[in-house]
Amino acid sequence: MGADVGIAAVVKAFAYGHGYSQVTDILKDQEIKFFAVHSIDEAETLTRKYPDLPILILGYVPKNMLEYAISKHWRLSLYNIETIGVLSKFAAKTGNDAYVHLKLETGTNRQGISRKLLPEFIEELKRHPKVISEGVAMHFANIEDTTDHSFAQHQLKQYRIMLEQIESAGIAIEIRHTASSAASLLFDKTHFDMVRLGVSMYGLWPSKETYLSYVMAHGKDSLLKPVLSWKSIVAQIKDVPAGEYIGYGCTYRTTADSRIAVIPAGYYDGYDRKLSNIGYVLIRGKRAPVRGRICMDIFMADVTHIPDVHLEDEVVLIGKQGNEQLTAEQLAEWADTINYEIVSRINPLLPRIIVE
Ligand SMILES: *Cc1c(COP(=O)(O)O)cnc(C)c1O
Repeated sequence: MGADVGIAAVVKAFAYGHGYSQVTDILKDQEIKFFAVHSIDEAETLTRKYPDLPILILGYVPKNMLEYAISKHWRLSLYNIETIGVLSKFAAKTGNDAYVHLKLETGTNRQGISRKLLPEFIEELKRHPKVISEGVAMHFANIEDTTDHSFAQHQLKQYRIMLEQIESAGIAIEIRHTASSAASLLFDKTHFDMVRLGVSMYGLWPSKETYLSYVMAHGKDSLLKPVLSWKSIVAQIKDVPAGEYIGYGCTYRTTADSRIAVIPAGYYDGYDRKLSNIGYVLIRGKRAPVRGRICMDIFMADVTHIPDVHLEDEVVLIGKQGNEQLTAEQLAEWADTINYEIVSRINPLLPRIIVE
C-alpha cells in the first residue's frame, strides 16, 4: 500500500474465522494503525489479552456502553447525531476526549451520515470540542460484485464532496479512509491515509470479479495465498452394500457396494449443511464426495475409489493435500455463498494452530 498509507487490520468475526489471538499475535508487532472490530464485545475480547491494542469499532455501540468505550480509548464510528452529546458528557466525566471516525453515507445505505444531515452534524461537532473527529470513513457498496466500477467512482465523488464540507468547516481530519480489500487492490486513489484490510489479509480474494479486475490491470497474479486450512480425521470406515441409505432423511442411496468414511465435523463446526450430497473433502490426496446430509457434528464421504484409507487419516475440508486443493471459494460456490461466510463461520471453539 505504500509507506504513507496506514493499515487497519480488520479482525472482526473472530478474525474472519482465523482466530483472534492467533492473528493478533502475528499482527501486534507489525505497523498496524488500528485493529478494526465490529462490536464492543469484540473490542473487549481483544483487549482483555492485549490491553494496549489500538481499536477501531466499526459497528454500533449502544449509548449505555459509550462511557466504557471512551475510558478504553477505543475509536468509535459515528453516524447518529444523538451520540455526539452523549459522548461529550462522558468525555467530560472521564476526563478523556472521545475519538470518533465520521462514517459518511455515500450510497451503500448502511451505517452513515447523509449528505443532507452533514451540516447539522458539523454544527453539533463544533459545539462539542471534546468529541474529536479523528477520521472520516466510507464504505463501498459495489466493488466486489462487479467489474463495472462506475458506482464506486460515484461514491468516491460523494465522499470527496462531503470531506471537503467537513474540512472547510474547520474540522481537521487526521485519517481519511474508504477502502476495504477490493478497493485497496484495485484503486490507488481510494487509499487516502489508511486502508481497512479484511479478507485479503487472510490471503483470500474478495471475489472473482475483484480477481479478474486485478489480473486485467496488473497481469498475472501471485499476490494472495490463503493462510487457513481446515482439517479433520477419519473416525470410522465402513463397507456399505449397494442400495443402502446414508444419513438423516435417507437422501443418498448407494448404487454400488461402497466404502464410506465417517468424519467428525458438521454444521455446528461451520461445515455448511448446504454441502450435503454436494461437497467434497480430500483424503489421501483424492477427492471424496460428501454422501447424505451434513449432521450437526458428523458427515460421511465416499472413499470407495481411494485405496488404503485408514482410521484417523487426515481429512482436508479446506486446503491442500497431495496435488489436490479445496479452496474456501470452491466451498462457497457449492454452498451458494461467499468465501467470507465459509471462513467466518468456522466455529471459534475449534483449535487454530499456527504451523509456520
Ligand atoms: C468488514 C469491513 C471491512 C473489510 O472488508 P474486506 O472486504 O474483508 O477487506 C472494511 N470496512 C468495513 C466498514 C467493514 O465492515
